[in-house]
Amino acid sequence: MDAATAKTNLLGLDRPGLEGLFASLGEKPFRAGQVLQWLHARGCDDFVAMTNLSKALRERLAQGSQIAAPQVQADHLASDGTRKWLFQVPGGSAIETVYIPETRRGTLCVSSQVGCQLNCSFCQTARQGFNRNLGVDEIVGQIWAASRLLPPHPAREKPITNVVFMGMGEPLLNFDNVVAAIRVMLDDLAYGLSWRRVTVSTSGVVPMIDRLREECPVALAVSLHAPDDALRDELVPLNRRYPIDVLLDACRRYVAGDSRRRITFEYTLLAGVNDHPAQAKALAKLLARVPAKVNLIPYNPVAGLPYSTSPPQAVAQFRDELLRRGLVATVRKTRGDDIAGACGQLAGQVLPRARRAVPLSPSA
Ligand code: SAH
Repeated sequence: MDAATAKTNLLGLDRPGLEGLFASLGEKPFRAGQVLQWLHARGCDDFVAMTNLSKALRERLAQGSQIAAPQVQADHLASDGTRKWLFQVPGGSAIETVYIPETRRGTLCVSSQVGCQLNCSFCQTARQGFNRNLGVDEIVGQIWAASRLLPPHPAREKPITNVVFMGMGEPLLNFDNVVAAIRVMLDDLAYGLSWRRVTVSTSGVVPMIDRLREECPVALAVSLHAPDDALRDELVPLNRRYPIDVLLDACRRYVAGDSRRRITFEYTLLAGVNDHPAQAKALAKLLARVPAKVNLIPYNPVAGLPYSTSPPQAVAQFRDELLRRGLVATVRKTRGDDIAGACGQLAGQVLPRARRAVPLSPSA
């Protein structure tokens, strides 16, 4: 519900939500599928155009509901084709969404919160503080708006083939809304993405990793960044609550029972901090117990922070140490850095909350 208009935003409803809405209107459940298709597969924002619904039903829908995505505040195109939008959200803040085109896929990097509570020492978003969780409509609104704004792709039906929750925020601390949004992304009549192509990235909220496995086991990426607790406590303070051992056990449970599944471990390389070959060796040893692949991220400098990017030789050496020990390891290509759209550079505009003390434990 939008408080100002008291109209339900249809972008915030997954299929069960829409079925509930239609039940309340005395309509059959299949109407939910029809509306999902109009909204998401066809990018429709006008009830009048939904011609397989009766005129009377369209009018009733228009009276009680709306189709409202976050408003574009800025739209930047990087020299490598990466595109970044700043979306205004109610309350005066803005969030960022990034589209990364590649030959065979197009990845949309979405935000899940306005700001972040986790305070990772090297991340730009952390410096913005935390304002609030995004609603389902605001998460789905990012893919809805991007799908409409992106030009048609010459070689494939849809420009967006993959979604990663690697924008602003910790998705597992906004669990219910993130899962409902993912349901829309996976719905065949909406975006029809396979679970392999939707990745939730987490700093390691262990209880919520287990809930995700039970409710919506999409691809999982874990921001590890250190091979031992002492260093990880410093870089990712959430580690003090859920240390590496406990986290890796949750990762093992996440993929148990399906030998094809792996966890992606993100590891941002910070010069002289976590990029020593001995640390690669320790990392390989640690990850021997989990079906894993490692994604090494060259650090994108953040103004005012005491970290710098590992030199390319150090990155290559770190990767080779992992490969030599049988791990799958890749180096993430830095994309969109000329528009501050690279990993950890997403800042948006986060207004301070009246009260900043937010419990770390997930609300759900
Ligand atoms: N909170 C979630 C989602 C954010 S994903 C998580 O932590 O996984 C963004 C990824 O980029 C995380 O792995 C994060 O640690 C990493 N990152 C943050 N700041 C960065 C920076 N300046 N350079 C490179 N990677 C960074």
